[in-house]
Amino acid sequence: MRLKEKVVIITGAASGIGKAAAKLFCKEGATVVACDLNEELLQALKDETKDFGGEIYPKKLNVTDREAIKELVEEIKEKFGKIDGLVNNAGITRDALLQRMTEENWDIVINVNLKGVFNMTQFVAPVMLKQGYGSIVNTSSIVGIYGNIGQTNYAATKGGVIAMTKTWAKEFTRKGANIRVNAVAPGFIKTPMTEKIPEKIVKMVEERIPLKRMGTPEEIANVYLFLISDESSYITGQVIGVDGGLVI
Ligand code: NAD
Repeated sequence: MRLKEKVVIITGAASGIGKAAAKLFCKEGATVVACDLNEELLQALKDETKDFGGEIYPKKLNVTDREAIKELVEEIKEKFGKIDGLVNNAGITRDALLQRMTEENWDIVINVNLKGVFNMTQFVAPVMLKQGYGSIVNTSSIVGIYGNIGQTNYAATKGGVIAMTKTWAKEFTRKGANIRVNAVAPGFIKTPMTEKIPEKIVKMVEERIPLKRMGTPEEIANVYLFLISDESSYITGQVIGVDGGLVI
């Protein structure tokens, strides 16, 4: 029960990595405010975890909707009185080579993956600063460090997430608060986000990964858990790669 009595917000909690994290955190005793666009999947998550030990508090939320985030934070303060952790996990892709990338697809990826992290953190951080503690995990990607063909928009957001992580690790501790901010940079993970990649490409990528396979959502969730829990109490401003060794 590594998250007993902790209140943790996870965005993008209805699918893939976010869902695996919500389930794991719930097993570790947390109250998980599980945010996503997909209300039906959130309800299914709540049903699935009813005997897990913690509690799933499902919340339909778009991370681009600042008014809704502000209301949610007020609701959490009233209902639970604190926020121990925030996992900024929600993310989307709209891939195309630069020449073919539409402005619309640039804007939407920036709005969800980059501004969404800014939005959530801007409303949650004041609560953490006031209580004097908290842990924030931002989901980046190896693509944010090394780039990737066809992902100008996505790579820009994931690089930006790393820059915000380091900035906030410095900013939130300025007056002595114990607020840690770290990023996780997954490699190729089996989730709905990657299921459209053709089998041939998957095989090629797996050949290049030292551990010779794609990762599972649970393998990322384990690192989220470590970074949100007190076990990582002296780690802040870091980017933890979880990629089977792909980029060494
Ligand atoms: P996924 O598509 O399975 O899940 C993403 C979830 O985010 C979905 O439930 C979706 O409804 C939700 N979401 C999308 N837009 C939202 C919004 N505006 N507001 C709230 N929720 C929203 O994807 P995943 O693979 O689990 O990805 C999770 C995170 O991990 C993302 O940030 C992604 O960029 C990152 N990541 C994934 C991989 C991978 O290989 N799967 C690799 C590196 C990084």
